[in-house]
Amino acid sequence: MHQLKDVKTIIKRLNEHGYEAYIVGGFVRDYLLNQKNGDIDIATNALPETVKSIFPKTILTGVKHGTVTVIFQDEQYEITTFRKESHYLKNRKPESVFFVSSLKEDVKRRDFTMNALALTIDEKIIDYVDGITDIEDKTIRTVGNPYERFSEDALRMLRAFRFVSTLGFKIEKESLIAITNHKELIKNISDERILKEFENMMNQKYFVQAIELMIKTDFHHALPILKNGIEMIHKTKIVPVDLFEFLTICAVCGNFQQIKTLPISNKLKKEMGIVYDMFMLGITDFTKPIIFRNGLRNCIFTNKLNVYLKQTEDKKEDIIKQYKQMPIHKPCDLSFRGDDILKLYDRKPGGWISDLIDEICLKVLNDELPNDKVKIKEYLHNLEKKDKRSE
Ligand code: ATP
Ligand code: MG
Repeated sequence: MHQLKDVKTIIKRLNEHGYEAYIVGGFVRDYLLNQKNGDIDIATNALPETVKSIFPKTILTGVKHGTVTVIFQDEQYEITTFRKESHYLKNRKPESVFFVSSLKEDVKRRDFTMNALALTIDEKIIDYVDGITDIEDKTIRTVGNPYERFSEDALRMLRAFRFVSTLGFKIEKESLIAITNHKELIKNISDERILKEFENMMNQKYFVQAIELMIKTDFHHALPILKNGIEMIHKTKIVPVDLFEFLTICAVCGNFQQIKTLPISNKLKKEMGIVYDMFMLGITDFTKPIIFRNGLRNCIFTNKLNVYLKQTEDKKEDIIKQYKQMPIHKPCDLSFRGDDILKLYDRKPGGWISDLIDEICLKVLNDELPNDKVKIKEYLHNLEKKDKRSE
């Protein structure tokens, strides 16, 4: 977590060397809104090599774009030289950046007026773009012409929706029309970046408003894999709390195979597959074996999908009650292990062991067998005798 007092020390050090430096970006916006922001960005007229020479510990990851990361009190702070951007390639990356000498020039490249403010170490705001008025009016407005700014970098459209979700601001009229007209440009943005913005949008106070504006601008039509999910969220008012829930909604309302092509972890895909299957199979009765096999969270989420998308009765309380009553929650909770089974049988290890463990788990979950080593051993003995008799 960045500390304001440490940032002030960093800025003072730059000042002592004769350079200007300010706090910029989201921290200043949130400072005016009295909201916490643990990410403090610094802008300066010192060139990256100079910044590097002033601070003993730096990382030079973004030097091409003017950013030097300074390590101070074990935290990383990004210091970016005032800059201007050349024309943009494929609606995202500027071809090159030019360093400029004034803050006034630097703020022109920033996306929205609320994000183009600067804060001095005496906590005075410098506002060249009427950002304070827009924050007071709860308005998201591009710095300069919205048509130009969204076509330069199409990600800004999604950032606008993200800020609606976090701040509950409205998008200014002309900017909204520009998004409607330029929505197709989002196709030039990588799936990683798009998903990152959606992830930031989740679990925020004004998520419903963000979805409403996406529908109003038809923006979701430019995101074919996510389109049906967004429409369903709008229609049913289901609120996904994270990317997993959001993408699973998109999968059950659209094409799961396409969702699987997105850059998400295999673990996430596996969990989504579990919920997808339960939802598609129409599971509405979450028995102990079902909860055991599919996991508590997945069952609760499948129930949520059932309630919103199929208008079934809400079983959440019952699922939690069943879960609490379960004598075991994972196969490793069983007091009889694979090794114990191997000792009992004169057979080579193989898939039969996990089949047998599954069978024992089911018996234990259905209260047909206690989770007791001796009793399970007895059960297996009897099972063997029975098998021998039937051979
Ligand atoms: P958060 O509070 O979520 O960190 P933020 O506004 O600080 O929001 P960052 O992504 O941290 O967003 O970017 C820092 C600043 O850099 C922004 O406030 C904005 O001034 C500028 N910025 C970031 N992305 C863009 C962009 N795509 N186009 C123009 N300016 C941008
Ligand atoms: Mg930030």
